[in-house]
Amino acid sequence: MAPDVPVSPLRPDDHDALRDRAVEKLRALVRIPTVSRQDPADEDLSAFERFHDELRARFPRLHTELDLTPVTDHGLLFHWQGREAARPVVLMAHLDVVPVDDDASWQHPAFGAEIVDGHVWGRGTLDDKGSLVAICEAVERLLERGFVPAQDVWLSFGCDEEVSGTAAPAAVAILRERGVVPWLVLDEGGAVAHEAFPGVELPVAVVGVTEKGVTSLELRVDGRGGHASTPTKMDATARLARAILRLDRSSFPASAPAPTVELMQRLAPYAPAALRPLMANAARLRPVLTRALVAAGPESAAMTRTTAAVTTLSGSPALNVVASTAKAGVNVRIMVGDSVASVLSHVRSVVKDQEVQVKVLEAGEPSPVSPTDDDAFRLIESTIAEAFPDAVPAPYVMMAATDSRFFTAICERVYRYTPFRMTRAQRQAIHSYDEHIGVEAFAEGVLWYQRLIERLPEGQVTA
Ligand SMILES: [Zn+2]
Repeated sequence: MAPDVPVSPLRPDDHDALRDRAVEKLRALVRIPTVSRQDPADEDLSAFERFHDELRARFPRLHTELDLTPVTDHGLLFHWQGREAARPVVLMAHLDVVPVDDDASWQHPAFGAEIVDGHVWGRGTLDDKGSLVAICEAVERLLERGFVPAQDVWLSFGCDEEVSGTAAPAAVAILRERGVVPWLVLDEGGAVAHEAFPGVELPVAVVGVTEKGVTSLELRVDGRGGHASTPTKMDATARLARAILRLDRSSFPASAPAPTVELMQRLAPYAPAALRPLMANAARLRPVLTRALVAAGPESAAMTRTTAAVTTLSGSPALNVVASTAKAGVNVRIMVGDSVASVLSHVRSVVKDQEVQVKVLEAGEPSPVSPTDDDAFRLIESTIAEAFPDAVPAPYVMMAATDSRFFTAICERVYRYTPFRMTRAQRQAIHSYDEHIGVEAFAEGVLWYQRLIERLPEGQVTA
């Protein structure tokens, strides 16, 4: 846990008892290994069933007072009727987790949910059962008080987020069918990130306002193949290798998008004096800022442009056979401003070889940018200020993909925020080993969701 974290002003008198109750629910759900797999045949379906049973047992009011629509196999869509339905809100999370690598050395068992040093350890504590349980606990507490939200609240819990499955688009289809146009959609995303920016002492509560599009390409070269004893020059394998090198040596054009500029401006007052002028004037000095981000390393460079990584490779099946077909898979993360079409033309132009076929295996456009100058974002910002008074709220471009990208089809205000304090080590543990969430950080997250629901505004959309 980061040092000197202030006590949340939202804490009720019985905070400790409520916190401990919520933490036990989280632990029970983390212990159920709801691992999603690329091939659904490899999945342990009973784990998902057990998860549903445990969720029902742990959140009885939520399950009796809200309407539940099952989505695909194991997705859940709850509807909590508010006093009005003019500005419906969708709170999202996913109940599946990524597999645990057997070779990774967890300090505490990945599905043990042990509490050590004030943290719950286990796969899914941060991604994304922490959010799922915190949302449910916030709703359960409000139901216990007889609270009715000002607006309809939907809870959309996916079951296959980690494998880009069909539950989220199916939930969108259901909402569309019912004529629900969400005013605000909130999914996992940026954290209350401690040690986020060099030289900035305060935690930054980063709210994703767009996410990169995930696209997969295949580069393929067909040749004559043949016996390895009589090779020719520039066969399929060599041609493919040349194409890969050309792609590797070129970069997509860089530029700091609007959310990155705003992030810099908001951080400027807290940044080291030497960086302050550049950050404060980021809008005017965009080219300088872009160059600085590119120079600062691959992570910050990825904030400025589309990236392409060659991941899979295949060629000859045998040592004495020249490949008749050589293929490479390219994983592309498309920055807002670029598109699948512009990526294709960039790849073709840098590869400069008609013999290399470029095929789109999976097309994902970047998500549109959600506004930061209207009521929905201000609501998120003001509740962050209440729950995390030491944090600087700021928009940013999310590098990873979330289920919320599908909701951009029915909602203009899609935000990606995980209301938990995380150190750098904790953020790096996501999808890796030693994933863990602070007990107190988790409790604060519950308070944040609770306050967000309490603060939903009355009336029609104005801004
Ligand atoms: Zn996730």
